Amino acid sequence: MDRTILHCDCNGFYASVECAISPELKNVPMAVGGSAEERQGIILAKNELAKKYDIKTAETIWQARRKCPELVIVPPHHDLYEEYSRKVNDIYKEYTDLVEAFGIDESWLDVTNSRALFGDGETIANTLRERIKNEIGITISVGVSFNKVFAKLGSDYKKPDATTIITRENFKEIVYPLPVADLLYAGKKTAVRLGKLGIKTIGDLANTDRELLCKFLGKNGEQLSEFARGEDTDPVKCITDETEIKSVGNGLTFKQDLVGEEQIKRGIHIITESVATRMKRYGVKCNTLRVQIKGTDFKTVSRQRGLGTPTNLEKTIRDTAYELLCEVWDLKKPVRALSIAGANLIHDNSGAQLSLFEENEQDEKRENLEETIRSLRKRYGFNSVKTADVLDKEVSVSETHIGRAERKTKK
Ligand SMILES: [Mg+2]
Repeated sequence: MDRTILHCDCNGFYASVECAISPELKNVPMAVGGSAEERQGIILAKNELAKKYDIKTAETIWQARRKCPELVIVPPHHDLYEEYSRKVNDIYKEYTDLVEAFGIDESWLDVTNSRALFGDGETIANTLRERIKNEIGITISVGVSFNKVFAKLGSDYKKPDATTIITRENFKEIVYPLPVADLLYAGKKTAVRLGKLGIKTIGDLANTDRELLCKFLGKNGEQLSEFARGEDTDPVKCITDETEIKSVGNGLTFKQDLVGEEQIKRGIHIITESVATRMKRYGVKCNTLRVQIKGTDFKTVSRQRGLGTPTNLEKTIRDTAYELLCEVWDLKKPVRALSIAGANLIHDNSGAQLSLFEENEQDEKRENLEETIRSLRKRYGFNSVKTADVLDKEVSVSETHIGRAERKTKK
């Protein structure tokens, strides 16, 4: 029997949350982004009115303002987005315990065994859309299909506030004309390589000899071929409430490659700020720090190190991340993407080995300072406070993974 899988995607999530809280924002073109005055902010999300001005995610506020001078910019409130994400996922969990979050605003649901109780996939999708609109005040789009890959394509197919059903009967009609890059994990670079073989659409990919694809793309080729043909069998993971956080990390792909000490340090700074903040919120410290660097050739190198003393201090994490990077990376080589994660976590104050007194005292001062910075930023936006070595130039990101934590399920 085929599975029934839903992929639910919150539309313009950050902007929708802001509009849900301040309804007056619904009537003006608005976007969530960094500080406009300082010209370094980028657009993280926009509402429907802003979309009409062709405002795009990841462009600079300065570019966006040129298209729409009256654009209202709201600073991001990440705590709020995490709270809304939890609320939305709580509703999903009323329909199945197989809910797998993919980032802060997307989730897969396997509702195969819920159909007797709540109706078929389409009915459940429409129920969820109505409930989330009425109870939370934001809209979602839902893809319903027999595998995760097609369900995800479905949620993207029609939005906002829509349901798209992709079945064994209609998938060739709906999925095959879509560009290859739309396929999960295909990515732009793979799309370019496939384009050289004359493979432009998902249909082209499905109809290409599998062995040829494997020769061309290796193992990735085999997987993409399966995805295109609707043969994905990956299960929706059961994320029960009994989960514990295994690592806290964040990664960014930079719109422009980072070159040289100054730019790379800036990139690290942006990422470690969110990593440290989240560790503190979860009440954990990390024993191990892991850095992953992707170059322009898309090759990834990584390095990790034990820290001696568990920490969630931004400065320690930042300095260590930079040291680790320097160990494996030539600073003259451009960096395309960076990710930093703290692993081997312990609960704050739960038997951490104390280091020398002096160090502790310094840590405490640093901790107080960072706490102050965080509360100021929470009230006035990220760019309201800057430490000396952080960005005076723009570092733009094309992809953000905010609020994603790797989790392991307690057995
Ligand atoms: Mg979304």
